[in-house]
Amino acid sequence: MKYLSTRGGMPPKTFTEILLGGLATDGGLTVPEAYPRLSGEDLAAMRGMRYRELAFEVMRRFADDIPAADLRAIIDKTYTAEVFRSDEITPLKTLEPGLHILGLSYGPTLAFKDVAMQLLGNLFEYVLAKENTEINILGATSGDTGSAAEYAMRGKRGIRVFMLSPQGKMSPFQTAQMFSLQDPNIFNIAVKGVFDDCQDIVKAVSNDLEFKAKYKIGAVNSINWARVTAQVVYYFKAYFAVTKSNDEEVSFSVPSGNFGNVCAGHIARQMGLPIRKLIVATNENDVLDEFFRTGVYRPRPETQHTSSPSMDISKASNFERFVYDLVGRDPAVVKDLWKQVDGGGSFDLGKTPFFAKVKEFVMESGVSCHANRLETIRHMYRQYGVMIDTHTADGVKVGLEHREPGIPLVCLETALPAKFEETIREALGREPERPAELVGLEKLPQRFEVMAADAEAVKRFIVTHS
Ligand SMILES: *Cc1c(COP(=O)(O)O)cnc(C)c1O
Repeated sequence: MKYLSTRGGMPPKTFTEILLGGLATDGGLTVPEAYPRLSGEDLAAMRGMRYRELAFEVMRRFADDIPAADLRAIIDKTYTAEVFRSDEITPLKTLEPGLHILGLSYGPTLAFKDVAMQLLGNLFEYVLAKENTEINILGATSGDTGSAAEYAMRGKRGIRVFMLSPQGKMSPFQTAQMFSLQDPNIFNIAVKGVFDDCQDIVKAVSNDLEFKAKYKIGAVNSINWARVTAQVVYYFKAYFAVTKSNDEEVSFSVPSGNFGNVCAGHIARQMGLPIRKLIVATNENDVLDEFFRTGVYRPRPETQHTSSPSMDISKASNFERFVYDLVGRDPAVVKDLWKQVDGGGSFDLGKTPFFAKVKEFVMESGVSCHANRLETIRHMYRQYGVMIDTHTADGVKVGLEHREPGIPLVCLETALPAKFEETIREALGREPERPAELVGLEKLPQRFEVMAADAEAVKRFIVTHS
């Protein structure tokens, strides 16, 4: 399998070659030259597999330059009951016939990003050891990416993590989870700005190719290709869990921000998984919903701070991968569209033939606001006795609006309610349960650096600490 750039300016590379990188060398995103297609026989063989076996079946098709035995060992070491609280890894809860919640939040940081990030940590360590080299990971987080990355990379040899987060914008729990880490290879940088400022700094540093090469800058944010592929696995897992045969269709509702999670669903479908609808749920930051309704992609100058903060994103960094497929995988078109976006503008595919493909792919969308979130959390608690977090609530709200009779709907649970206590209290008047090992987390000493939203200052910090 070779990997290309969505903008056409990168020579073909292998999985291992793109594993440690962020953006492609031409500023685009890395994509496989073609999606592996699974036959009916492949799907039949996968039904009944446990999570680790499924992960291997999916990943080996993308990571085909890692020897199979090594890849299997990395996967077996990652997806364990010790790390994910059960051997199911991503347990499925059935609320009523045809309505399910896929639990993706049982890793160390209680959010779905652990599923991919834990694998990434082990893949990175493997490749770095093999190549006898080091890496400085630079990332931006609105909450969950950062902690998932840090818990995956802490104490790993040859890896340092520099994580930017918007100062004061994460929940106290999220902040404490990251800032309480005392591992010497983890550096938390609180930026005076919003998430998009953090993301812009990461882009600016990565676009400085000389600096990037000299300081071996790598990325773990949602544009990392290996993360996207690791997320493909649980669509398969959920599909087999809710169907009896491979001619049935299933719809998925996905709480979305940077479009990484739902992009994985799109890839699962391109590989041949019978997915009916992918439902993109956004919060008040509705740039993706606007696109799927109208064809206009218009990143906003402002990001609203909401009660589902991990979706507070006004530029969806992974979206370029999907648009690449939408425009028939023509890099010249993508390059042109992102020239407009990167210049602060927007584009409109609404009146082009490309937009018809949105219907062909069966992508739908909707928005959920704070009041919807509260109402959905209450409804789920009263109706089914299930407590869900604010992001999952956005997904459930929008998912139910697009539910069709006879088609199972799987709502992805992207975090546990314990991460967002304040809103749970507001909705239910009670505290969410917290895993025992996290009681008192906010009282631990915190270790972080406050900095202005300035790429040069961040570079200097990396230079002095690596
Ligand atoms: C990151 C995150 C999302 C959004 O996922 P994307 O892949 O960025 O679309 C949704 N919910 C939670 C809890 C998250 O941490």
